[in-house]
Order: sequence, then C-alpha cells, then structure tokens
Amino acid sequence: MQVSEQAIRQVVDLVLAQMAVQPVAAQTASAAKSACDCADQAGHECSCPGKQKADYTGRYGLFTDVDEAVAAATAAFEQLSHRTVEDRKQIIAHIRRISIEQCRELGTMEMEETKIGRLEHKIEKLKTLGEQTPGVEFLNSQVFSGDHGLAVIEHAPFGVIGAITPVTHSLPTITGNAVSMIAGGNTLVVNPHPSGRKVAAEGVQRFNRAIYEDMGIDNLICVITEPTLETADAIFNHRGVKLICVTGGPAVARAALNSGKRAIVAGPGNPPVVVDETADLARAASNMIAGASYDNNLLCIAEKEVFAVDAIFDQLLVEMEKAGAVRLTASEIQQLTSKAIQTVGEGADRHDVPAKELLGQDAAVLARAIGKQVPAETPLLFGEVPETNPFVPVEQMMPFLPFVRCRHADEAIDKAQYYEHGFRHTAIIHSNNVRNMTRMGRVMDTTLFVKNGPCMSALGLGGEGYLSFSIATPTGEGVTSPLTFTRERRCSLIDDLCILGK
Ligand code: NAD
Repeated sequence: MQVSEQAIRQVVDLVLAQMAVQPVAAQTASAAKSACDCADQAGHECSCPGKQKADYTGRYGLFTDVDEAVAAATAAFEQLSHRTVEDRKQIIAHIRRISIEQCRELGTMEMEETKIGRLEHKIEKLKTLGEQTPGVEFLNSQVFSGDHGLAVIEHAPFGVIGAITPVTHSLPTITGNAVSMIAGGNTLVVNPHPSGRKVAAEGVQRFNRAIYEDMGIDNLICVITEPTLETADAIFNHRGVKLICVTGGPAVARAALNSGKRAIVAGPGNPPVVVDETADLARAASNMIAGASYDNNLLCIAEKEVFAVDAIFDQLLVEMEKAGAVRLTASEIQQLTSKAIQTVGEGADRHDVPAKELLGQDAAVLARAIGKQVPAETPLLFGEVPETNPFVPVEQMMPFLPFVRCRHADEAIDKAQYYEHGFRHTAIIHSNNVRNMTRMGRVMDTTLFVKNGPCMSALGLGGEGYLSFSIATPTGEGVTSPLTFTRERRCSLIDDLCILGK
C-alpha cells in the first residue's frame, strides 16, 4: 500500500496536537482511563496491576467527578497502608490542629453558608471535635493465649469509605468522620449536603494541604464540590468504595440501606424527655434548655418534646422560665405551629416537616414570626401543648420545646416511646426513681439514654464516654469510633509463643 507523505504528516500532526493540548495530570488521567479496557459497565476505572495511575497530587481533595475522587482516595489509601500507626496519629494531629486553631474562621464560614444554628456553637463544635474525637488509641488488639498457642485480633481498614454528611453540621461531621476513619487506616470520599458544600470543601482543602506538606500524602479526604443526589448515588454504587457511612434524615438512611453495600447509618431522631415527680426540677429545666437550645436545636440528640407528670408540671414550667426560656401562650403556640410546621407529600407519603424559613433560627426569630418581641439572646421558647400538636411528632430542629402533661410516669414513658417513632436514637429522663429510669430504658430501647443531664452529656460532653457526630442508630454501631470503620483480622500461631509452660 502506498502512503502519501501528506497522509503521514497529517497523522503525525494529529498525534503531536493531542499530546500538546492536555495538561500533565489530565494526560496521565486519560492514559489511565484508556490504558485498560476492563472498566466496568458504570465506567469506573480499573486497578489492574501495572496500569499507569493518574496523579491527583495537588488537588487537595477537591473533585467534581466521583470516579476521580475515588481513584484519588484509593491512591491515598495505598500510600497510607505503607505508613505506621504513628504516622496516622501525625496526620490526624493536623486535622485536630486546624479544627481547633481555625474554629472561629471555619465556624463563621459554616454559619454564613448554611444560615442555620448559632455562631458560638458552630465554632465550639469544630473545636470540641478537634479536641475529643477518638483516634488511634482506640485500636486496641485482642489476644487469646493458651495451650494451643496465640491468636491476635487486629483491626484493619476497609479502604475507601463513602461518607454523606448533613447540613446541620457540615464540616464538623467531616472532621469527626475523617479523624475516626483515618485512625482506622481508611480514606474517604464525602458527598456533603449541597447547602454546606463550600465550607466542606474549604475545610477539606486545608486538612489535605497541611497533611501533604508534612507527610507527602494528598487526598486522604476527598470531597465532591458540586454534590447532588446523583453523585451520592454514584458513591453508593462505586465498586472502589468499600463501606458507606451516612449521617442524615430518613431519605438518605433509606437510600443507604438499599444500596447493596455495607452501610453504617447515623439516622434521624426525635428525642423525647420524661420528667417525673421525683426529678430535681431546677436541674431538669436548666439541662433541657442547654440541650434543646444548643445550635438552635439542630443536634440529632437534642431534646425535641417533653412528657412531664401532672404533679410537677406547673412548677417545671416555672423553673423553665426562671432558667431563661420564654413561655408562649396557647394562642401563640398555635400561631407558631402554623408558621413552623408544613405538610408535604401526597397520599400515604403525606407528612409534616419543619418549615425551611424557621429551621435552625434563633428563638427571637421564631418569636418575631408571631409578632412577639423577646431578647435576642433568648435560648429557647417553650409551652404546654396537647399531644396532637405537630411539634410533638416532628423533628423540629428549631428552639421551641413542646411540653405535654401526663397523669403519671408510666403514661409519660409510653408516650415518649410512641413519639420517638422507633428510631431507637436518643431518650432522656429526669428522675430520682430507679424503677422509672429502668422502665424507660427498657421500653425506649434507644442507642443513647440519658438520665439527669442534657442530651450532649451522652457524647462525653459533661458525661462519661467519647464524642462523635455520627451516631449509628438503625444499623446498631452506636456512637461511631475508629473501631466502627475497621475489619477484624485474626492472626493465629499454633502451639508456640504461649510462654506459660505446660
Ligand atoms: P438530610 O437527610 O436532608 O441530608 C443529609 C445528607 O443526605 C445530605 O448530604 C443530603 O444531600 C443527602 N441526601 C438526602 N436524601 C438523599 C438520598 N435520597 N440519597 C442520597 N443522599 C441523600 O438531613 P439534614 O437536614 O442535612 O440533617 C438533619 C438530619 O440528619 C436529621 O434528621 C438529623 O436527626 C439527622 N442527623 C443524624 C445524626 C446521627 O448521628 N444519627 C447526626 C446528625 C444529623
């Protein structure tokens, strides 16, 4: 066959042009994508041995494309796997330092972007998570030794974890997840809530940059900067993602459970409080205000409705006022309810939800919505409601706490169980009656059960235990820790190394 000089020149020009237009990272990425034809049907990159891998160094965790994010997190995981546990500690120290030192700046960004909650608490959440999220010290191995030798159980990573995070604590959830997951030896790809995506990206970029500059590994935490339901779905279905951890409401909890992957689900709650006739009422009131008003009631563990017995009901409301909460009249509550709770959905899916305009707003804003003036620093509004008021069943996430009058503790506990909706999330009692405490603990069957404290004392904040902002409820892992994100591996030596002699 004769090939003209002109045809050869055209081919050479074409090849040279293609090589020239692509930046280096894109060249390697596209080479990696096309070098192998075994990509699965969803188009995910393969990880065939010898295949040239794309280099995502310098992206500091920011991605729009899920495939690229997973590839970068996979490369970071491979690098992390060759590092020591001490290195993991050093990596986590950067996340802690930034969360603590830059809490004011990042907390302000979160407040300005999400426009819900309270600035002082946005700042405090980042600082507290930086200080208190458990790290590598949680990875204690177990040992069995005996006549037949030695078995050691160690905690190994899964690999890349897909994380979905809520608007109520966008960067705080990522911070806590990153510390726990990296302590366990994993890397993560996060799909943040769209309304908290900018602060998520900013925080992740700062974490990765500091880690890369010190340790030479980039992209341990990857974030999708334009998150959608489709990108969440792509993470759920990506074969490079080995485990899912979602923190959010009912829809995402359902989606994760239906994903076909192992999912750790930190789902919704509607925590009830019972107050019986033996409670220390002043303490109960100040605890309920502290918990229910924190970040304007955005915490999933926050007190959402109160069932108090008739014998102390009126006095309890007096104590609430004395402790700084503002009481609404029946007609004011009716007005607030019509503004704050909306009905959505059709047919069997028809249900009440908090109105977006008032979700996470200050008590003073809620009051203003019904034409009432209260001091700007008012932590909480409250008042007596009939059980039928929608504030009782709805997870309101705003600083109005409804109180339902009950005849006795058993009735209060039964109502608490009913309105918790079987989420098995959090329940609280104020009582000095051990029988009531015990019965409520049994009946509620919740992941967290607090007695005589504000809700956050269950997370080690003023109580014993440790901190996480992802509390796995339907899937049962409880307050997540580095161990939650590990696989057990057993290493057995037969007949030797038990030194106790036969
Ligand atoms: P949300 O359910 O609206 O959103 C949470 C996340 O899930 C977001 O990133 C959102 O984009 C995503 N999402 C929503 N529907 C999805 C779907 N069908 N598929 C894939 N992704 C989906 O919740 P929110 O308003 O951001 O946060 C408040 C909720 O989260 C409350 O119900 C609260 O109780 C819960 N929460 C639980 C915990 C816990 O530890 N159990 C912690 C914080 C918040």
